[in-house]
This record gives sequence, structure tokens and C-alpha cells, in this order.
Amino acid sequence: MKTHATREQRARAEAEAVLERIRALGPMLKASVTRRRFRCGKPGCACARGRLHRDLVATRKVRGKTQTIRVRSGHEREALAWLGNWRKLKTLLDRLAGLQFEILRPAAGRPADRRRPGPDATRKARGARARKRRVQN
Ligand SMILES: [Zn+2]
Repeated sequence: MKTHATREQRARAEAEAVLERIRALGPMLKASVTRRRFRCGKPGCACARGRLHRDLVATRKVRGKTQTIRVRSGHEREALAWLGNWRKLKTLLDRLAGLQFEILRPAAGRPADRRRPGPDATRKARGARARKRRVQN
């Protein structure tokens, strides 16, 4: 039992640390970001002679509809940093989910675990019932 408590405590402590890292992340941008190079169309502009303008376009889906914005000039670096924060958040959430799973897992070697023939057999034997009882979120 001591081993179980220690593993659970470790997982809980690490989960707290992951939550702290999430809190420290800062602003996030959940979007698909693309760098563009383009000509503005003004005849005298440098872009007409090949020095193309650059900008950043951010796209996201809201209830099935795509929203696209050109990131405000001067905020490109910020937008990319926020995008990085979003990606870090996803990684940290995955880590957190794994730790929560560890916290709930029974201690190894307990009779209930040893009785089980294996994940596949268990799934076959209990699949229908398990599907009906699945909790939705
Ligand atoms: Zn131009």
C-alpha cells in the first residue's frame, strides 16, 4: 500500500507542478497561422519591383465557420509567441490527463488486477455493457 500512496502522491505533486506551468503560460492563440508574401498593387511600391510585403494570417473555426484575420502590423512576433503558448498548453494538458489517470489507477498487483486475463479479453467480455455505461462529457 505504501508503494501505491507514494506513486499517487508523486502523480499529485507533478499534476500541481503542471498546473503551475499552465497558469504561468500567458496569452494564447488557438489558430492556424500562415506567413504570406504579397504585392499590394500600388504601381510605385517596392513590392512591384519584387520586394514583397509580408504578413501573418490567423485562421480559426467557430461553430463550423472559418474566421480569418490579418495579424495587426507589429504584432506578428507576439502572435507567434501566443501560438507557441497554445501548443505548450496542449502538451501540458496531455501530461496532466496522464497524471490524473495515474492517480486513479489501482495499485499494481492487487487481486482485482491479477484476475484480469488482459486488456483485449476484458474489452470483449465487457464491451457491450461498458459502452452503455460510458459517461459523456
Ligand atoms: Zn506594395
